[in-house]
Amino acid sequence: MAKTHTPKASELLFPMPRTVEDREGFFRFHDGITIAIDSAFKALKETAPTLLHVLMGGEDILVKQQAGFSSEGYSLTINNRQVVIKASKEEGAFRGISTLRNLYYTSDHRLPCCYIEDSPSFAWRGFMIDCSRHYFSPTFLKKLIDVASLYHLNRFHWHLSDDQGWRIPLEGWPELEKVASKRTLLQYTDGRTYGRLYTKEEILDIQAYAHARHMVVVPEIETPGHVSSLLAAYPQFGCSGGPYEVQDRWGIFDEVLCAGNDQVLEFLEDAITQMASLFSDPYIHIGGDECPHTAWESCPKCQKRMQEEGLTKAKELQSWMTSKICAMVSKKGKHPIGWDEVLEGTESLGIPQDLIVMSWRGVAGGIEASERKHEVIMCPNTDGCYFDYQHTDDDEEMGNLGVSSITQVSQFDPLAGLKNETARGRVLGSQGNLWSEKITTGRQAEYMLFPRLMVLAERLWNPQEQEKTLNRIPLLYKVCDALSINCYRGPLA
Ligand SMILES: [Zn+2]
Repeated sequence: MAKTHTPKASELLFPMPRTVEDREGFFRFHDGITIAIDSAFKALKETAPTLLHVLMGGEDILVKQQAGFSSEGYSLTINNRQVVIKASKEEGAFRGISTLRNLYYTSDHRLPCCYIEDSPSFAWRGFMIDCSRHYFSPTFLKKLIDVASLYHLNRFHWHLSDDQGWRIPLEGWPELEKVASKRTLLQYTDGRTYGRLYTKEEILDIQAYAHARHMVVVPEIETPGHVSSLLAAYPQFGCSGGPYEVQDRWGIFDEVLCAGNDQVLEFLEDAITQMASLFSDPYIHIGGDECPHTAWESCPKCQKRMQEEGLTKAKELQSWMTSKICAMVSKKGKHPIGWDEVLEGTESLGIPQDLIVMSWRGVAGGIEASERKHEVIMCPNTDGCYFDYQHTDDDEEMGNLGVSSITQVSQFDPLAGLKNETARGRVLGSQGNLWSEKITTGRQAEYMLFPRLMVLAERLWNPQEQEKTLNRIPLLYKVCDALSINCYRGPLA
């Protein structure tokens, strides 16, 4: 009889670590396994036992601090009696725990002996969830953050405002909750309303949960377009004065924030000030995408602003506003991020140099931004980074607007098209984006995200030959099963 093949660690790991040496034997992960964690890693003492379902009080698993690793770097040694993780920083130790946890799922709790040394290729490894079009519950967001952290992702981009709903709690602006957070679902005849804000407590709780997993939270407030919900609550912020409504259809809407009204700037300053204190991480995303300039062309206030600022084209008002909003973000000690449209209409006024550009309409915006010395996050909808797109070109598949196949994701390179080392050095990394116009439940979101997001995670952590990545996709199904994730299992291309 043929001997059963015992998989080696190198056949069970995803993302693939930088170095893996397979060794003989295995470590059986049974009930009652113990862990000891270096006293330098205080937060890990709280999280690791729960994540691994192990107990403090012994050294079956030993996590030690040791100099010489990069901030996210670690080593992991598994022999048949003990598991040892070494790292210089707590973040590195956490990545080591994640690799161990991942191996626990893929090896059916029988971990092959090995030696691993690991560190990431890109600093920015993220995912974006649109919580405006669909309000995702805090419990569900935590589930996503946990799975993402298992694949070493470290940025949660939280899209919190759009035409179809406002989700950011701001003191002193009661209409945001009463009006902007709710829409009437037009497809129903019973006048049902939909939506709510996240409370401050929920945001702080989600943030703490993310931080325990070394995930940075990046909140986004859309400006100056995609603001129908805000205008419905405060019509004086629009050029025409309204009335406006929270939209229940999808698209790009002509009414945007009035660039000639100082009250708009006062609101934004207050919103950003409150967001800067609620969200403790160093970034605030200011939107900037798909902002029509038509309302500005016929608005007397906007025209007056253009005259005062010496602008000849309405589109230049966007760069004027971008600069104002960036300054508000910078003043709070945060880094502003904007979608690639922020590069347009900037000939006379420019945009602040500290603005990080997120390239979504292909890679051209990211390439231009890097040439203009901005830091860049590459998430092109043309190359597999849009997870609201279908997995395959099949009418019966969920998703819209395009296709992001697993095959496409498995060959995505955030540095493609960048000419030289300097330009490449400005690319922080990438992220997968999930817009939720056509997603109405968390279960659907899981189907769109997984396993594509896991494949992208490997591209950003330690990219492999395409075939090697695709051959290991069944490992991802296994983890999805273990974590009750409704993942896609259809054709890869
Ligand atoms: Zn105006």
